[in-house]
Amino acid sequence: MNNQDCIFCKIVAGEIPCFKICETDNILTFLDIGPVNKGHALVIPKVHYENIWDLPSELGQEILSTAQTAGDAIMKATGADGLNVIMNNNKAAGQLVFHAHFHLIPRFNEDGFQHWDQKEYDNMDEAQVLAQKIEKMITGIN
Ligand code: 5GP
Ligand code: ZN
Repeated sequence: MNNQDCIFCKIVAGEIPCFKICETDNILTFLDIGPVNKGHALVIPKVHYENIWDLPSELGQEILSTAQTAGDAIMKATGADGLNVIMNNNKAAGQLVFHAHFHLIPRFNEDGFQHWDQKEYDNMDEAQVLAQKIEKMITGIN
């Protein structure tokens, strides 16, 4: 089911144009209109799912396979040295369009982008406790 207010659903429906790279019955890949580097593309499910938790995992596998194929083609077409595959989930993580999507961003050795800032754990205990807390959450979910 698609969402009337969603810009990506409108692209899927052909109501808004895009520079299409490839598509299957379930997935559309097209250029991001505001590329981090030229060739930056988005892989989206044609059906409206909001984020990674809504996305059926079988569809996730198909998206990963598309990311591999289209990512390889983007690397070759742009002469990129690397590729970021990124998914933003929720506003706090930078999600602006609430229709699940993966960014394929070609990267170049001298493109000037830095790795994001990293923090440190206070001590090894803090890291161990947190790892175990997350593990317990998974056990609780499954
Ligand atoms: P987010 O921050 O939600 O992960 O990324 C949304 C992305 O969608 C942004 O990189 C933005 O440039 C791209 N975008 C937003 N509107 C459009 C549009 O109408 N067409 C295309 N091709 N990309 C869009
Ligand atoms: Zn949508």
